Amino acid sequence: MSSIAAPEWKSILDRIRALHPALIRGWFSTLKPIDLSGGVLRIRAGNLKQVRYLDDECRPAFIEAAQGVLEQLVTTTFETDAPNEIADDEGYPLSISENNQLQLNDDYVFDNFVVGAGNRMAHAAAVAAAENPGQVYNPLFIHGDVGLGKTHLLQAICHETRRLGTCPTTLYISCETFANHFIEAVERGAMNQFRFHYRHVDLLVIDDIQFLGARERSQEEFFHTFNTLHQSQKQIVLSADCSPSEIPTLENRLVSRFKSGLVASIDAPCMETRMAILRKKSRLRCIEVPEDVIEYVATNIHTNIRDLEGALLRLDAMSQASDGTIDMDLARRALADEAEASAISIQQIIDVVTRHFGVRVKDLQSKKRPKSISHPRQVCMYLARELTEHSLEEVGGYFGGRDHSTVLHANRTIKKMIDTDAKVRRSVENLRAALRAQQNGIS
Ligand code: ADP
Ligand code: MG
Repeated sequence: MSSIAAPEWKSILDRIRALHPALIRGWFSTLKPIDLSGGVLRIRAGNLKQVRYLDDECRPAFIEAAQGVLEQLVTTTFETDAPNEIADDEGYPLSISENNQLQLNDDYVFDNFVVGAGNRMAHAAAVAAAENPGQVYNPLFIHGDVGLGKTHLLQAICHETRRLGTCPTTLYISCETFANHFIEAVERGAMNQFRFHYRHVDLLVIDDIQFLGARERSQEEFFHTFNTLHQSQKQIVLSADCSPSEIPTLENRLVSRFKSGLVASIDAPCMETRMAILRKKSRLRCIEVPEDVIEYVATNIHTNIRDLEGALLRLDAMSQASDGTIDMDLARRALADEAEASAISIQQIIDVVTRHFGVRVKDLQSKKRPKSISHPRQVCMYLARELTEHSLEEVGGYFGGRDHSTVLHANRTIKKMIDTDAKVRRSVENLRAALRAQQNGIS
């Protein structure tokens, strides 16, 4: 970490004085540059009022002056060692409190996490981050499909740092919470309190950070939160359903920050891991499951672990409704619904969608991008993700060998349209109903 020389600092202040005289306050002479690292110039002020003024009014002027003098891309953050006056200072406290944190699930600890080929690296990195926060992998970015254990690992880190006492102040939140707090703070003019809350923690854990992509202003704020914590070697752990560069509309500077530590993916578990997870979960829940049933369930459910657990719970419920034993006969019945639900094929989806939109299969598989073709193609991908168990790669393969990020993007686009466009919602509902009807042999 390096700081900037006194003459450079003086030039920065002189430049602001010359270009923005109205911004200058007498106390500017007491400001101190702390360090310049990773393109961030940290500046210390005397109190929170000053930080608020600098943040709200002066940041662009400081950035412009610092870039002019240092001749490099620089952003600035303002902080203070005298944080205690927040509540009085703001007058109306934000609703940030312990309650806004996500609840930790007692079961989501490292001991209950089964390690296999698909998650070995993510698990090892999570353990290392918990044991040496801020020292080894910072940030730690864990990504993978839904139900593969991201939340479990994030919470295990929180449990472990709590147990070891390595991070006295921990914040474990969803991305939505961060964005909502930010908006609330902006509306109430309570940015200082917001910044103090998020920038004075030893461990910041944010689940499902992909949602930040859709929040432009929160991205800006998060960028500064991230930099401040990172500069002070506080541990940051993030999870998402895709890698940093695949998060749609995430600013490049955030992508590169997210990639600057360790990016670890979690892949679907192999047969052996699925069986080990079933054994572990059944032990945890005191459900007695014979080995042949474990093998049968693990063979038939292979996409995500949440579904494996769902099957186990269904087995348990069904067994309690009869004599309490779990055997192969019961397992076959319990999984019958599952098998039926996955019986829709991509081919059927393509048939129904092409008929509905009046397009040709060949067009869906071509590189053509006009909306009349790309929309039906995206609807196909969306329905394939919802109604079949094919992986992103497999679905992409059906549509001219497109990669998994294209399928992910299609899925999100249609999801959003369903929420905002009644016409799209109706057509997807009709298509889904047609497919279900076929599945049940009605049409
Ligand atoms: P994600 O956040 O990736 O969608 P979760 O962490 O919520 O997935 O995991 C879904 C369920 O699967 C949880 O109950 C979790 O405990 C379980 N699970 C996932 N991976 C493992 C694993 N390797 N060992 C044991 N349980 C696991
Ligand atoms: Mg999760």
